[in-house]
Amino acid sequence: MDRSWMQLQDRLSQEYVDGINSFMKVAKKCADATNCIRCPCIRCLNVLIYPLDVVDHHLYQFGISPTYCTWVYHGENCQPNSRGGGKHFYSLIEPVNYLLPK
Ligand SMILES: [Zn+2]
Repeated sequence: MDRSWMQLQDRLSQEYVDGINSFMKVAKKCADATNCIRCPCIRCLNVLIYPLDVVDHHLYQFGISPTYCTWVYHGENCQPNSRGGGKHFYSLIEPVNYLLPK
């Protein structure tokens, strides 16, 4: 899937809006019982968890993290343990390391 929209500076462009819409569609499937997901915006960097509508807002206000190319927290290559309550921090560290440039 083309994710070049994630690098766009113009967050009002149609391409970015379409990209966010496609992300939210994927992310919704990973929402928990309270409709919350990790926020991949530049500020939250998948550390903070917010309701879908707040995340949507952040992605327009702050922008999506341009390095978050594989949406591991939102259903892509999800680890079986990643939704376990006490394992949030462990599941966080591995994919972030994976994304760092070698
Ligand atoms: Zn955020």
